[in-house]
Amino acid sequence: MAAPGLYVDHTSIHSVWHDGLLILMYHAIETPPLWHSNRGLYIEPSKLRAQLGELRGTGTRFVSLTEWNRRRSREREIIVTFDDGFQNVFRHGLPILQELAVPAINYIVAGEIGGTNSWDRACGAQIRPLMSRDELLEWQRAGLEIGSHTLTHPHLTAIPLDQARHEIFDSKKILEDLCGRPVAHFAYPYGDWNPAIRDLVAEAGYETATVAHPGINSFESDRLTLRRFLATHRRPHVVALGRAFQRLLLNERRS
Ligand SMILES: [Zn+2]
Repeated sequence: MAAPGLYVDHTSIHSVWHDGLLILMYHAIETPPLWHSNRGLYIEPSKLRAQLGELRGTGTRFVSLTEWNRRRSREREIIVTFDDGFQNVFRHGLPILQELAVPAINYIVAGEIGGTNSWDRACGAQIRPLMSRDELLEWQRAGLEIGSHTLTHPHLTAIPLDQARHEIFDSKKILEDLCGRPVAHFAYPYGDWNPAIRDLVAEAGYETATVAHPGINSFESDRLTLRRFLATHRRPHVVALGRAFQRLLLNERRS
């Protein structure tokens, strides 16, 4: 049975999302821990399949970030993104993406390949293994994309600019050496950016970068601050997503 109302059954989404690009942001693909403040960063494999299947069922096109950036369609399209490169995304997410023929990008913390999300320790998050070099290559062989999420996952606006440069430039180089192809996409850790950081991302040669602020992207959107919606497992968030769309529409009408 289809899981009703996960995203697209929500009337407000249908009423406001007429065109433009919706980018979904996922992190870990596993059962959310019971007592954790960041439960929204986890989603069960069955829910991922239900959400993507439901969206696929509406006839909305899933595209890769590279494809969308190349032709910048005004159509209603969806991009699926994963942050941090969790091994559970490789194990549980990849088979679902392949089953549903959904393209996706995984933003990798280049200094922690085969390591753990140690940067999350401070906030008490679950520490999980990250994808290994071999798993990254297999992800790529499956036709999916890899982007950079810095070297160590810092708040880029809170560190010296030369250190931020190192995080942005060197992660690109490490991933390109590993993958044997250009790495053209970047995601700001914690969605944290400012104009100076954005300039560094541009200077490094990234073609797109994504933030963590919700919104629909249009043909004219700044390609280095593309907006994303956090995809969560909780029904109230579905309602919140619908309300966010409504607010967005109201703001656009006022402006
Ligand atoms: Zn992250």
